[in-house]
Amino acid sequence: MTTPATPEQPADVVARLRATFRTGRTKPVAWRTGQLRRLRELLTERSADLADALHADLGKSSTEAYRTEIDFTVREIDHTLDHLDAWLRPESAPVPAHLGADATAWTQVDPLGVVLVIAPWNYPAQLLLAPLVGALAAGNTVVVKPSELAPATSAALARLLPAYLDTDAVAVVEGGIPETTALLAERFDHIFYTGNGTVGRVVLRAAAEHLTPVTLELGGKSPAFVDRDVDLSVVADRLARGKFLNAGQTCVAPDYVLTDPETAAALEPLLAHAVETLYGTDPQASDAYGHIINERHFDRLAALLDSGRIVVGGGSDRTDKYLAPTVLADVDPGSPVMREEIFGPILPIVTVDGLDEAIAFINDRDKPLALYVFSESGDTRGRIAAETSSGGLGYGLPLAHLTVSDLPFGGVGESGMGNYHGRWSIETFSHRKAVLDKPLR
Ligand code: NAD
Repeated sequence: MTTPATPEQPADVVARLRATFRTGRTKPVAWRTGQLRRLRELLTERSADLADALHADLGKSSTEAYRTEIDFTVREIDHTLDHLDAWLRPESAPVPAHLGADATAWTQVDPLGVVLVIAPWNYPAQLLLAPLVGALAAGNTVVVKPSELAPATSAALARLLPAYLDTDAVAVVEGGIPETTALLAERFDHIFYTGNGTVGRVVLRAAAEHLTPVTLELGGKSPAFVDRDVDLSVVADRLARGKFLNAGQTCVAPDYVLTDPETAAALEPLLAHAVETLYGTDPQASDAYGHIINERHFDRLAALLDSGRIVVGGGSDRTDKYLAPTVLADVDPGSPVMREEIFGPILPIVTVDGLDEAIAFINDRDKPLALYVFSESGDTRGRIAAETSSGGLGYGLPLAHLTVSDLPFGGVGESGMGNYHGRWSIETFSHRKAVLDKPLR
């Protein structure tokens, strides 16, 4: 009988990765692109393992697993491979006259060192791997910590990543609060956390001890404003797709609808129709519809169902962690469903009296991660853009802005700090060193 190996302690993992970084091995662009290509191979050769794990953790259909996690990350890798040389190129800066005509200045893009990536459970592969792509592309060594609430995906990543990547440069540490707390006691050169604001504060406090810079990808209530006189059947279809993907457990899902009473009344049957078109009359039997991550979140969500009149849905089955795609009308802004981020398949409709009141409603609350606007009016679109603050702004289509690799993805205020994707990941995981050269002669 063999005794299982003692897991490496966090301090030893970090020391080992720091030693690798000091050798300079991760700096050449060829090493970085080599690691990205290996990660791409993992995602293509072992995609079925990942899709199975995502199905076990969240009931994701394989179509959804490929679209929102596996192919998403492959696209991020391809985009990075196509542009990395350009993103890393030094940028020259004009030199003031007092330094003389022979002086030159530029910025050099340096890796930071050892990066920690802490991922959540809702897109447990994408939200661990997309930051990893950026951190490796920038030439860092990386510790990744998958979410213990998605145990099948965590185990798959812990098995597969070391089989494909340089194990002295990328380490997977599995576990929950004790393991993450132990990791956070170590000194990192950057911490990238995705999850809720309460833990975000824990991360920020721990990072302060070492003056470690932090990216916080958090959540919050992302509103969808629906103007009068728009094609409501298109709006209903897009709202339902964005909201009920992954059973509503998406950080940028439309959290609630904000509209005037007449538009709300017209939208109700169209949302019910859109849900039926997407998932049939019995969504529990639909392969396309996922389940709630665990019983704790199921109970939290079930308690929100009586915050309004049920337009469609409302059904649930705790043993299956199934909560029907649900639309609630006549929702009071002070009701429980409006007091916290829903993060589940419940879409409340809140009514306001026109655009001024909608803007005031949004600005009275925490700055959202995303804000969606369904309007044909240039004035309305322009006013919302100018008078509100949110991580991202989507006209006409929820969620899609985060698939544009060269748009920075991140929050503001309570929805987070910093951003990533595409070249923005290079900015996040690098230091831009200022260089001045004044010839000696
Ligand atoms: P979670 O519970 O999986 O937690 C995230 C990570 O924090 C996990 O790795 C977990 O182990 C760790 N953690 C939990 N408690 C901790 C503690 N006390 N100390 C140290 N580490 C701890 O995920 P979650 O927070 O439930 O995720 C849901 C939230 O994340 C929602 O608010 C959602 O909007 C947000 N989110 C944001 C984004 C984004 O990109 N901005 C993406 C997905 C989710």
